[in-house]
Amino acid sequence: MTEKSIPADWAFEFHGHRCPFMPIGYRMGVLAMERLGVKHESDHGFFVFPEIGEGHPQACMMDGMQIATGATYGKLLMAKTFYGKLAATFYHPNNGAVRVSLRPEFIDAMGKFEFFAYRKKGVEPSQIPAKVADEIIKWVYEQTDESMFKIEPKPDFKFSPVKGSFNKTKCTVCGEYAFDRYVRTKDGQPVCIPCSGYEK
Ligand SMILES: [Zn+2]
Ligand SMILES: [Zn+2]
Repeated sequence: MTEKSIPADWAFEFHGHRCPFMPIGYRMGVLAMERLGVKHESDHGFFVFPEIGEGHPQACMMDGMQIATGATYGKLLMAKTFYGKLAATFYHPNNGAVRVSLRPEFIDAMGKFEFFAYRKKGVEPSQIPAKVADEIIKWVYEQTDESMFKIEPKPDFKFSPVKGSFNKTKCTVCGEYAFDRYVRTKDGQPVCIPCSGYEK
């Protein structure tokens, strides 16, 4: 693999530990940007939809995707589909969409490393010996894009982001501001969701 697909040291610091999944997500992001011809997103124009679910350990990939693309959770550019799959769709309104998934053969080969023997025993990545973590990360870096990923264009992919608004209203119960799309009415008065007693 090439240098540009390897996350910088600060990316590991931000992520918190050395694991193979953050760099895999990073590389997925780099590949998707190349395919779509887009640059690291400064503002609000590139979206990532990871298919990762809950209760399985590969969620670290999403930090790598955000670091590579700038399509961050905080900018509302990332939303999970909860399919429980190791894949993500990357979407740019002008340049289209591409889905990148991990090949089953790659997942199987990676699962044989000692790193996962520790993980299955419940050892957190930061507590795994550096030698063991670095072994699998180095192996991942040595694999080709073709052996790791399936890349599919998604010409029919559609997504409409929520239109932004700065309008807000003070809740008549707690006195705090809530943005208008979240304001509810109770006894004819505007209230925030927690004060309304309603579900979202
Ligand atoms: Zn991780
Ligand atoms: Zn309130």
